[in-house]
Amino acid sequence: MTISQETVLDRANADIQPRILRNYIGGRFVEGGKSFDIFNPATGRVHAVAHEADEAMLGAAVTAAQAALQGEWGKMTLAKRRALLMRIADRIEERFEDFLEAEIADTGKPHDLAHHLDIPRGAANFRVFADAIANLPSETFMMDTPDGGKALNYAVRKPLGVVGIISPWNLPLLLMTWKAAPALACGNAIIVKPSEETPSTTTLLGEVMSEVGMPDGAFNVVHGFGPDSAGEYLTTHPDVRGITFTGETRTGSAIMRAASESVKALSFEMGGKNAAIVFADADMDAAITGLARAVFLNTGQVCLAPERIYVERAVFDQFVAGMKTKAEALKPGLPHDEGTDFGPLISDEHRRKVLDYYKLAVDEGATVVTGGGIPKLAGDAAQGYFVEPTIWTGLPQNARVCREEIFGPCCVVIPFDTEEEAIEMANDSQYGLASSVWTTNLSRGHRVGQAMEVGLSWVNCWFLRDLRTPFGGAKMSGIGREGGEHSINFYSEPTNICIKL
Ligand code: NAD
Repeated sequence: MTISQETVLDRANADIQPRILRNYIGGRFVEGGKSFDIFNPATGRVHAVAHEADEAMLGAAVTAAQAALQGEWGKMTLAKRRALLMRIADRIEERFEDFLEAEIADTGKPHDLAHHLDIPRGAANFRVFADAIANLPSETFMMDTPDGGKALNYAVRKPLGVVGIISPWNLPLLLMTWKAAPALACGNAIIVKPSEETPSTTTLLGEVMSEVGMPDGAFNVVHGFGPDSAGEYLTTHPDVRGITFTGETRTGSAIMRAASESVKALSFEMGGKNAAIVFADADMDAAITGLARAVFLNTGQVCLAPERIYVERAVFDQFVAGMKTKAEALKPGLPHDEGTDFGPLISDEHRRKVLDYYKLAVDEGATVVTGGGIPKLAGDAAQGYFVEPTIWTGLPQNARVCREEIFGPCCVVIPFDTEEEAIEMANDSQYGLASSVWTTNLSRGHRVGQAMEVGLSWVNCWFLRDLRTPFGGAKMSGIGREGGEHSINFYSEPTNICIKL
């Protein structure tokens, strides 16, 4: 995605000057040789230009990170490190509008969504992990020794070292800080490679790091793509000790191969094809409201979104009618327009992929309950990457649309007759990220919730998150867990000290 003649023309038409996004290395903003355009998905216009980091710049970031670990950052007391993380959270809030507008420009998402979800969670992530690291219990074991004496074991936690963070475009600040905050809390020096589609808020965080006095080199940002670019340089660099990644499963496979040469620690949060199960005894208003939000929030671009919904036959028609009403009430439009609650997809390319699935669903025999196309919008939004919220019925469990992650605002609704059948269909997937079960029967909620082969199983809710709990995916949806102590475990290296008494 280098600057093409066509995109330069787009820029000429825009009424704003594109923002320049530089790499942040060793506490300074640095330009790269090549640059690439960042589009506002709501208008299709270029709003920023990012400088791509080449291999030498990635090397400089690693050197700066290592120097930070040897210097002030590595020697900083826990109390001071914790205070610094709290200050970062405060500064994100002080610059709330800057982060908000940057996130909206990169993603095109509705103002209220970014205002209530993305930016507050960016600040919260720093506070949660500042507390987690300060309140971490230490383990000790007194043991009997063969000579009848005693020995005391205790573990100290050290940082992994230089950690690479590779993040996606759907919730850019939220998902990046979800990893950056615990990595810094544990005392690592980090190099962040944000998605090439949404690099703005990560760049702004570089400014915040300078403003709060973060030691140079503790937080670095490199811009670019995956293969033959910053992503690959980061995953193959021998002095990067860990890679934490959120993105597509097949990208995770490529990163795993690249990182294997230097045996890096890996934490992966990847794709899903999440299921929801609605029983006839569910509170139907809550189930319809909850699942309409789950399917269509952020235009379906949430890794936890259910794209398969299994509904007990007795309430199937009622459920489908309710979801149709909710989908048709969504209002697509520009992020700041009054009433907009449905944004565009992230890119023209992603829209083509989603529309291919919309066509495939029909080819596979789906009944289109609603949507299936592109909404007619006027003004600037006419060039945005919008699609209609879409619901299908009449598809068999083995249809591709029921098995492959689409990552768009769409779902398949399938009827079931018994609890066993619902569990079997829900678990019939190569993925295992999240599920939700809707029932007023408490025993069934526990039983079916626990039977789900996933990392996150919700009952009568969805995306309700306590940041101290384990987060991650089973099967091809992930490796490891983050959240609370699970994050601390990944981002630190415990060393056991055994003292013969
Ligand atoms: P993606 O895999 O295309 O890109 C993610 C990041 O990886 C980007 O920064 C990209 O530049 C980088 N990358 C791509 N190829 C690389 C390579 N070979 N080496 C190093 N880096 C590389 O994912 P995306 O399209 O940005 O995000 C959507 C996907 O993310 C969906 O599959 C979604 O389910 C998943 N996701 C998962 C979670 C979770 O918590 N499990 C959360 C959000 C999104």
